[in-house]
Amino acid sequence: METKRVAIVGAGVSGLAACKHLLERGCRPVVFEADTVLGGVWARPPECTALQTPRPMYQYSDFPWPESVTEVFPDHRQVMHYLDAYARHFGVLDCVRFGLRVLGMEYVGVSEEKLAVWEEWGGSGEAFGSGSGEWRLKVANGDDHVETHIVDFVVLCIGRFSGVPNIPEFPTGRGPEAFDGKVIHSMDYSKMGSMKAKEMIAGKRVTVVGYLKSALDIAAECAEVNVTCLIAITPKDHYKRLEEGSIILKKSKTFSFCKEGVLLEGESSPTKSDIVIFGTGFKGDRKIKDMFTSEYFQKIVVGSTSTTVPLYRECIHPKIPQLAVIGYSESLANLYTTELRVKWLTHFMDGGFRLPSVQAMQRDVLEWDKFMKRYSRVYFRRSCIGILNIWYNDQLCKDMGCNPRRKKGFFAELSEVYGPGDYVNLHPK
Ligand SMILES: Cc1cc2nc3c(=O)[nH]c(=O)nc-3n(C[C@H](O)[C@H](O)[C@H](O)COP(=O)(O)OP(=O)(O)OC[C@H]3O[C@@H](n4cnc5c(N)ncnc54)[C@H](O)[C@@H]3O)c2cc1C
Repeated sequence: METKRVAIVGAGVSGLAACKHLLERGCRPVVFEADTVLGGVWARPPECTALQTPRPMYQYSDFPWPESVTEVFPDHRQVMHYLDAYARHFGVLDCVRFGLRVLGMEYVGVSEEKLAVWEEWGGSGEAFGSGSGEWRLKVANGDDHVETHIVDFVVLCIGRFSGVPNIPEFPTGRGPEAFDGKVIHSMDYSKMGSMKAKEMIAGKRVTVVGYLKSALDIAAECAEVNVTCLIAITPKDHYKRLEEGSIILKKSKTFSFCKEGVLLEGESSPTKSDIVIFGTGFKGDRKIKDMFTSEYFQKIVVGSTSTTVPLYRECIHPKIPQLAVIGYSESLANLYTTELRVKWLTHFMDGGFRLPSVQAMQRDVLEWDKFMKRYSRVYFRRSCIGILNIWYNDQLCKDMGCNPRRKKGFFAELSEVYGPGDYVNLHPK
């Protein structure tokens, strides 16, 4: 792979792991990172954000946390130090080009008509295809100077919990425009930095919309700084604050804005607010779509709202050549899932195995779609492999020619739970 030109987009947990494993296989990728620091979501979260996954489950298999970190749930600064140390230790930092945002990517050299009917992925079933296609990346720096980079393979590690905010839609006159106060998304809150955010919320009545991690963290911060805060995982002292009344939970399927605040379903008087913060998540699929200039790729890359995101092994789109997505599909312990997936990908890129035919991958994607709908029900689009994690890991192991039974002995196999530790010694050659 020494001669292959590979671009990784994003230097979060996924991009760092992808780069480290490519370096190990003799390939020197370039990592484009829009931010000025590495770490992705860990770089600028709300102040009180900490790991929800216990530390041993959020650790690269060959890079233990330092002994100085004893907390089971390290805070975001500790996570950042850990990721920074990993990047330095394995020489990843030298490959990262900070402050460079990939604006769009175009596959050139093969017509869309031709690649649409390929029976083998990329025309050959191998990572770098038949040799005629390549990716052209438009990359902008902070001054909006745009360069073009040409590569043989792209690993998209752009994450799904940042970038394109998911803001609910409201009928005309009942949205934020009707409200006298301030409305922001959790993304803007995090970007402000701790000091400015605290100044903004001090003495204010804050309503936080949403019940996901960021919403809860922001609500906790508001309660810390002041007064009443409404939200719908629980940060530190969450229940204590509920008892005190500094956080009030309200459940409502829909709501609208009025002059004084928000009107919840079934309530006649508004919840008076000075600031409303949307902790309503992000549009991760829009973010991936927007990376492509081709309308064809935009149309197929994330499937439709009635299907799962159609990635084979949660990583490869059967119809999009010389490209992999890492970190879209999530689990209960993302770092180890990502690392295993990266081992699979880099082994494949290094010629370790061939992908099945396009048709076989599409069949597999449909099968996966069925499982996800059965187990994740209405949340199938979240691509969370949590409940199927071990089965999924087994498939990756088999593809890499490694034994999926990782335990020592029959009884251990039968009775012990699988976790990151079981894949530490997995080194496909
Ligand atoms: C508040 C919060 C808490 C979390 N806690 C946990 C937890 O406890 N356990 C767990 O398993 N998971 C947790 N997660 C999930 C978390 O997203 C993953 O664990 C992991 O950090 C994702 O890493 P990533 O590299 O895939 O994506 P990200 O961290 O999102 O990194 C993506 C990177 O790509 C860059 N980028 C994006 N677009 C471009 C572009 N066009 N050009 C160049 N660069 C670009 C971004 O700047 C960013 O640095 C949490 C997420 C959040 C938001």
